[in-house]
Amino acid sequence: MRKNYKLDTLCVQAGYSPKSGEARIPPISQSTTYFYPKTQEMADLFDLKSNGYFYSRLANPTVAAFEGKVAALEGGVCGIGCASGMSATSLSVFTVAGSGDNILSSSAVYGGTYNLFSTTLPKLGIECRFFDPDAPAEEIEKLIDGKTKMIFTETVANPAIVVLDFEKIAKIANKRGVLFAVDNTLATPVLCRPKEWGAHLVIHSSSKYLDGHAAALGGVIVDLGNFNFKGNKRYPSFNEPDESYHGLVYADLPVAFGTKCRAQMMRDFGAIMSPQNGFISYIGSDTLALRMERHSSNAKKVAAYLKNHPKIEWINHPSLPDNKYHKLAMKYMPDGQGGMMSFGIKGTAAECAKFMEALQLITQETHVADVRSCVLHPASTTHRQLSEEDLKAAGVPHNLIRLSVGIENPDDIIADLEQALEKL
Ligand code: PLP
Repeated sequence: MRKNYKLDTLCVQAGYSPKSGEARIPPISQSTTYFYPKTQEMADLFDLKSNGYFYSRLANPTVAAFEGKVAALEGGVCGIGCASGMSATSLSVFTVAGSGDNILSSSAVYGGTYNLFSTTLPKLGIECRFFDPDAPAEEIEKLIDGKTKMIFTETVANPAIVVLDFEKIAKIANKRGVLFAVDNTLATPVLCRPKEWGAHLVIHSSSKYLDGHAAALGGVIVDLGNFNFKGNKRYPSFNEPDESYHGLVYADLPVAFGTKCRAQMMRDFGAIMSPQNGFISYIGSDTLALRMERHSSNAKKVAAYLKNHPKIEWINHPSLPDNKYHKLAMKYMPDGQGGMMSFGIKGTAAECAKFMEALQLITQETHVADVRSCVLHPASTTHRQLSEEDLKAAGVPHNLIRLSVGIENPDDIIADLEQALEKL
């Protein structure tokens, strides 16, 4: 595929090109294994001397079509389809870090990621040092030492809707030779391309906008091919032979991170995307560019409506000129700021419940970022164990409602909010 196609073209065309007489869209290769008549062909595959499939725990043609599309959208050299966004994040960390190492992470990350980093990684000997994404560069840089293997961030944090200052983090990462990873789930490459702002690795929960229909769990890791592991003393596991893979030195390969992640981590953890989910995600992402445009324009209208409503105490969407992250959003996501927002109604948790139960079109769900508008009240669901004080500290007041704006007609979304607010 030519390299200079625009993003909306890549959404439809990248990742799969049929040969004469083959299916126009990627068929579901529902097979664990692959046939080769010649022993040497198989041996060459195992030695990574040729490309091909031998076992679906490592690679599968349907999943490869989706991986190729996401890699093309992000401008990367390799995509790795995972069973979920969480497995994509886990495998990314394990590819670079082991016991005794540490990573840095923005404190404004998805709750599941926060748990993985704050609770599970330390049990495996990997420390996570959290930083306030709004902190000055020097303060963040101070957390880096010789054992720091990654700086992890989110383009638009879920649920805090914090927009990342890419250039600040890229400067630190490049100065110290540390891999800069970005979870680009809520922006998608349609609204923001982290590679253009200095990131080295992109992670997606494709369960969200990429699939877009709440139909398939998945994750994708994209190696952007712009980080030099060769000779970087921070990464001995890339510069020393991997005895578990015929003495391969990953830093010598054209795709260092992607090859290590697949050959070592996917082999050992086996958290690959299923062919069925690869197919659903591939088809879903055909319309990503159209959908992100609509999610963003709908959300902008909904945010402007809520901003002026007398029963709304506050509203957080970066499209609003007085939003704390508006300037950053205009710099990094000028064509649309996505469909996620949070707002506080003037009232108690009980009134939040009354409001949400009165909604007729918008449904209550733990999911976000698909075609259907949905809401969640974190204080009584994801954060229900926390006291009033802890809720405040977590930035989740009792009156916070998270709204994921879908692609329905914006007038219908606003009318539904209006009639539910009238009931308060
Ligand atoms: N990253 C972000 C920003 C998310 O919102 C989520 C899930 O909500 C994840 C990662 C985890 O993805 P998954 O649910 O596919 O494991």
